[in-house]
Amino acid sequence: MSEKGSVLVVGGGISGITTALEAAEAGRKVVLVEKEPYLGGRVARMNKYFPKLCPPTCGLEINFKRLRQNPDIKVYTLSQVENISGEKGNYKVTIKVNPRYVDDRSATTQCVEECPSEIDNELNYNMDKIKAVRLPLDMAYPMKLVADRDALEKIKDSDEYNKFASECEKKGIKINLDDVPKTIEENVGSIVWATGWQPYDATKLDNLGFGKYKDVITNVIMERLASQNGPTNGQITRPSDGKKVETVAFVQCAGSRDENYLPYCSGICCLASLKQATYIRDQYPDAKIYIFYIDLRSHGRFEEFYNRVQKDENIILIKGKIAKVTEDPQTKDLIVEGENTDTGEKVGTKVDMVVLATGIVPSTKDEPAPIDATYDEFGFMLEDPAKSGIHPAGCVKKPMDVGSSLSDATAAALKALIDTVK
Ligand code: SF4
Repeated sequence: MSEKGSVLVVGGGISGITTALEAAEAGRKVVLVEKEPYLGGRVARMNKYFPKLCPPTCGLEINFKRLRQNPDIKVYTLSQVENISGEKGNYKVTIKVNPRYVDDRSATTQCVEECPSEIDNELNYNMDKIKAVRLPLDMAYPMKLVADRDALEKIKDSDEYNKFASECEKKGIKINLDDVPKTIEENVGSIVWATGWQPYDATKLDNLGFGKYKDVITNVIMERLASQNGPTNGQITRPSDGKKVETVAFVQCAGSRDENYLPYCSGICCLASLKQATYIRDQYPDAKIYIFYIDLRSHGRFEEFYNRVQKDENIILIKGKIAKVTEDPQTKDLIVEGENTDTGEKVGTKVDMVVLATGIVPSTKDEPAPIDATYDEFGFMLEDPAKSGIHPAGCVKKPMDVGSSLSDATAAALKALIDTVK
């Protein structure tokens, strides 16, 4: 197969990985581009995911094994597509590949523990710190270190840093702060755009206290709190003081289905909250959980999960719209207030922690593809064969759960193959 028959997949989350594997296993050369230093995307940051409610390792490891075994997939991490020219069947793509600033020939992370510089851990939404030289994830693919250049530049003249860098070098790990980005070009026949999604920015919801009160968190933060490799090693505690949680309120449709914020339903955040309620109940058998909802949406085969959660008498479902969240300055307890939309009565309760069920925003809203593509009013990329010929896959196209993303990615791979049939 010539390079022109190959497929470019942009985005190394579950959709992009699936598209890349399907296309390569059908005999095409694939170039997979991911901007983070590791593959796995949002799924890698979850505690458990549907349909099996298993941790990310159960789905990703098998895919990483398939990637390792397939010489037809070229993976660029820390990379971004800067330019695309040409047309279906013959695209020229410019990719910027950023350096890791550390050349690890040792397959050991031994010296990393001694790194004298720490930075905010973005993976855990800055709830903890990590070393400036680190393995980005326990199960990172590729299993390679990465260094934060800015942090190390600040200490590079110190004895402490020089001792650290020289100890690393003895172990085969060379830190190179002078490394520079490279620009490479690839010729491909078709393109799949699978750059995924961002959680809605909850700081825009002034009335719900996110960013103001530490114990108001979002659903994606809850996934990290519950994860074994998260900031609390999986123990769900109040971020402000580490207290065990006895009462938690989930606020559904936080910003969603609201003309002022995100007018659409993301389809997945009802089930995510029901799932997260079980995380808390598993850890705290006496904890009480209040879920304030407008409608609870659980589609298809997940109805049974919903029914099971509903039977738990410590999970209280209240049809109500939350108007505001405030904090008791003495106890740091949060006060959740709103209205029961069935009866018109006021509803409210005092809780240890509030979880905002925020929705999905396509990554293309802020970072569109560098080619004339078609988007809807919310930034989701649309299939438009008459224009760019690029195929969107997964949540960049519309909100969807992991199972639907896998099917969509397979369909996108098939479309990419058809594009380049000779
Ligand atoms: Fe609201 Fe549920 Fe739709 Fe999410 S899935 S926007 S919480 S109704």
